[in-house]
Amino acid sequence: MSPTHTAAVAAPDRLPRPAAVDTRQIVWAYAVTVGVYHALALLALLPWCFSWTGVILAVGGVYVFGGLGINLCFHRLLTHRGLVCPKWLEYGFAILGVCCMQDTPARWVAVHRRHHEHSDRQDDPHSPLAGFLWGHVGWMLVKNGDLSRLGIYDRYAKDILRDPFYRRLERTLLYPTIVIASWLVFFGAGFGARLIGGGTPGQAVQFGTSLLVWGVFFRIVAVWHITWSVNSLSHLFGYQNYATGEKSRNNWLVAILTSGEGWHNNHHADPRAASHGHRWWEIDLIYGFVKLLEAVGLAKDVCRPNRRLARAKAGK
Ligand SMILES: [Zn+2]
Ligand SMILES: [Zn+2]
Repeated sequence: MSPTHTAAVAAPDRLPRPAAVDTRQIVWAYAVTVGVYHALALLALLPWCFSWTGVILAVGGVYVFGGLGINLCFHRLLTHRGLVCPKWLEYGFAILGVCCMQDTPARWVAVHRRHHEHSDRQDDPHSPLAGFLWGHVGWMLVKNGDLSRLGIYDRYAKDILRDPFYRRLERTLLYPTIVIASWLVFFGAGFGARLIGGGTPGQAVQFGTSLLVWGVFFRIVAVWHITWSVNSLSHLFGYQNYATGEKSRNNWLVAILTSGEGWHNNHHADPRAASHGHRWWEIDLIYGFVKLLEAVGLAKDVCRPNRRLARAKAGK
């Protein structure tokens, strides 16, 4: 171990919830949204709402909307500044992220930066050491005074809110407009394609609905659980390359579902690195895409893994 590095204090196995949490105060905006979208996603079970095109859009959408919008943009680009893209492209990715309904970029960034600051300590907003369901979803459904919008924005998201586009997402109806537009695009594409293909209006409504249910509702809920799994599963199950002092784990299942975000222990060891896979077999599709962007001149200042920092955290 380097003489300048002191071993991180291990996180406890169980944690209380943050002291500022009041479980009697439901955050209704989140609770209703989560409940309603799960109900809408269940429509996918109805044969009338089924189409193979919808299923393909749902699976592809997990990687396009979740992978590029949340994992690449909200997480690696905005939260950790692991790369820089032209603004038009960054905003394009951010719009994909907004379509995932994980709140605004500023909010997402602020909560996640707080998670890194207090990982698996009581002030961590969503440590699964306070309960699996708490870390997965419960934390956002009840009031946590630590996460009052202005407080955390001031502390963790000033850089994001200096950008007029992200400010507009906070202060205008742009955010819900993007979400509703994405509904219309999916329904309208299916409706129009079936009509043009010679279908009846009834068939067009059925096909448009199938794309909406699978390509939007089901996909949003799937991406929610996948993102939430990084917070829950990747802090409980898997292996550690680095003694980071909290419970972050490299979890291959989460890595597959998130195109690389499941190498979460590597990420906690070196948060700025745009690459989350640190061993040759820790496949990170998002980083592969970043390298592609870099090769064609659409990404620069890509932050590579800092082997020295990672080794120090590993105590070597
Ligand atoms: Zn984490
Ligand atoms: Zn992070």
